[in-house]
This record gives sequence, structure tokens and C-alpha cells, in this order.
Amino acid sequence: MAQLDEKLEGIYQDVLKRNPGEVEFHQAVQEVLESLGPVISKNPEYLERKIIERLCEPERQIIFRVPWQDDKGQVHINRGFRVEFNSALGPYKGGLRFHPSVYLGIIKFLGFEQIFKNSLTGMPIGGGKGGSDFDPKGKSDDEIMRFCQSFMTELYRHLGEHTDVPAGDIGVGGREIGYMFGQYKRITNRWEAGVLTGKGLKWGGSLVRPEATGYGATYFINEALKVRKNSFEGKTCLVSGSGNVAIYTIEKIHQLGGKCVACSDSNGIIVHEKGLDIGLIKQLKEVERRRIADYAAYHKDAKYIPGGNIWEVPCQVAMPSATQNEINGKDAATLVKNGCTAVGEGANMPTTPEGIKVFMEAKIAYGPGKACNAGGVATSALEMQQNAQRDSWSFEETEKKLENIMKGIHKLCYTISDEYGDPGNYVLGANIGGFIKVADAMVAHGLI
Ligand code: GLU
Repeated sequence: MAQLDEKLEGIYQDVLKRNPGEVEFHQAVQEVLESLGPVISKNPEYLERKIIERLCEPERQIIFRVPWQDDKGQVHINRGFRVEFNSALGPYKGGLRFHPSVYLGIIKFLGFEQIFKNSLTGMPIGGGKGGSDFDPKGKSDDEIMRFCQSFMTELYRHLGEHTDVPAGDIGVGGREIGYMFGQYKRITNRWEAGVLTGKGLKWGGSLVRPEATGYGATYFINEALKVRKNSFEGKTCLVSGSGNVAIYTIEKIHQLGGKCVACSDSNGIIVHEKGLDIGLIKQLKEVERRRIADYAAYHKDAKYIPGGNIWEVPCQVAMPSATQNEINGKDAATLVKNGCTAVGEGANMPTTPEGIKVFMEAKIAYGPGKACNAGGVATSALEMQQNAQRDSWSFEETEKKLENIMKGIHKLCYTISDEYGDPGNYVLGANIGGFIKVADAMVAHGLI
């Protein structure tokens, strides 16, 4: 990876000291700072006003107890988080993650990424993230409801359509947003649609929001392929994960003429050379909440490999859509060796710094998460627009807006990478493009 500019090195060392043990947060900060050297040389005002130090310190961090009872009456205590990172461009916006790996370092990395991602969308949204170390796996519907209600009983006081607007992330989908919305409404006595996004279609949700992250990531890579006079047509693709992002990435790849041959969950991978049956995956995962292993029972020519490494399956396009640090240096080298020419991140920070280095050196089209997966939060902002207008738009109209937003993000990242002397380096383009808007708003707002 690029070396840190010496003026930024001190800032980074300070971040390490002030946030001990939060390795994912350190990683996310380092990746952004590595791109900012040329920006601060051009505009020393950012340094004088300590914009970067201020950006690395969340405006507010909330940590709270979440007690709940399981179906047997046993009491459990989880930890809840909301990190309200930066509100220079709008109310804090970002998802909630329910996963046993969640701790402050994970929420801070996600919140930090969200600032730049949200800025890239061009919509008026600041950056935040939250969640809990609660494990939804194997929980009954009633247990999920009780947990969500307890979580919201504390969180509600920090939220509001002009203050902080959560949505889903890993472990939080339409069902959880529903329970949290209900509890918010009950406590506040306000039917305030704009307080959460990812709502159900019948009560304030937006069409295309479920599809948006996956569709958006695929649109981004489609643009990157176009720059290289290429397309998805006939390409063999891999999509890791099998959750919301993965499902709609596979669907859009197929619509654009590509063939997705493998996906995964935390237990193993499914390889189906003929192309994945997206209808079956939706049924298994979205309706029946089952594991991907069950796919093989319906397709005799598909192979389930317990504990398999999806990145060893040869492909031309890879879309990591599961979780952070799922592609290491070795995986990246395998992908490149097998002929992969484009990687689009549907997940947040799925590639380790070593992996990114491999992609950069190979000069493949590499779309970092904060640009490539911004379609999800962008469509959340479209949901907020519809809520504010007390209106709802058609699928076609909303999808067209999403497509245009992704084209716009791609163009912005490309133009900036070109301006800074490395055309097609989307890491540089996304980090600088996301940063400048936030930094300028922070300068305008004075020392706060
Ligand atoms: N969790 C998603 C993300 O990583 C969506 C956030 C939102 O819609 O607010 O961007």
C-alpha cells in the first residue's frame, strides 16, 4: 500500500493510541489516510483546522445495555452501540448490525466508512452506524421481537428524522426494522416514517431498497467494465455471501448477461457451474431462513463444499458480499492468477490491505466498498425523500434513480483518480471524492 504522508503519519499514530485494540477501525482510517497526502498538500487549510483529527473522532458514541428474555424465560444481556460519527452533510445515517462479532471497533470502522460513502452518494446524509453483539442465528421470531424492542427502548431517544436515521446491515432486515419501528412509534407516539429506512413497502418503505446494494454494486462494476470496453456479458462471476446484498448482486449480474457460479455462507460454499438458481436461493434464505447447504438437495449438478474457499473458484468478476476481511492477500493472488479482472465490493471492507495491494498492482478494476456498495444507503436516502413528500415512487423510477446515482459515483471516482494522476484507481477517487465534500462542509461550519 501507499506510504502515509509524513504529516498524516502523526495523526494516524494518535488514532492508534486513542483507540486501542480497535483493529478494524485502524484499518479503515489507514486506508483513507493513505489517499489523502496529495489533498492536504494542495489544501493545507485542512491540516490547520485539524479536519482529519476531527473526522477520526466520532461526534458522539453511545453504548448501552440490552436486556431481553428468551422463550424459556432466561435473561440475556447484550451490548448495544450507536456511533454518531459525522453530521457535516446531514443527519447521521447508517445501518445497524446484529452479529456476535460486534464490538466498538467494528461499529467505528463501519461508521467511519459510512461518512465517505454517504458523501459520495451526493445525498444530504451524515455518517453513523450501530448494532449489537446479539446473535440472531437460531432465535425464534418472538425472541427477535423482544430483543429489537429492548434495543429500541434505549436507542429511540437518540434518533429522529433530522437527527439520526438507522437502517439494516448484517443480521438486520425488514423484520427487525419493523419491530424497531413499532417500538419507536409506541414510545414516542409519533408515526415518523423518516426515522428508519428499509421499512416494509406497506408502511413507508421504498421499492428497490431491498435490491439496492446488490444492484448498485453491479451497476458500479458494469461502469468500470465499460471503461475497459468490456461488459458482464458471458462473464463467469463469484458472489460471496447469500444474504440480501449477495442475492441481488447475483440477480443483477444475471440480468446483465453474466453467470454467477458460486455463493457462500459462514459454513461453506455452493458451486453450480450452470449458473446459480436465484429463485431457489431467495426461497431458502429470504422465506425459509435456511442455510445455503440445502441448495444442493434441489440441484444434483451443484456441489456444496463445507468450509470451502470461494475465491479458489476460477472467475472473471468477483463480488465479495459477505463481511469484512473475507479476501486476504493469498485469496487476491489466487483470483488474479485465475483470470479475475474486476472486483466489486458489496460488503464493507471485505478486502485486507494485503489483498488491495495485489489488486492495485495487477491493475484490475477494483471497486472499494465505500463507492461500490453505496447504492444501499443512497436508496435509503430516496426512501427518506419519499417519506418527506408523503409519496411513493414506482419500481422503474426508483431503479432508474439508483442507476444514475451509481453512474454518478463511478464517474466522480474516475474523474478524481484521473485528476490525481492515477486514472481508474477507485480507492484514490472514492477516498478523495468522499473526503473533500465533508471537509469543506466542516470548514464552513466552523470549529464544532
Ligand atoms: N448498512 C448499509 C451500508 O453499509 C446501509 C445503510 C443505510 O441504508 O442507512 O451502507
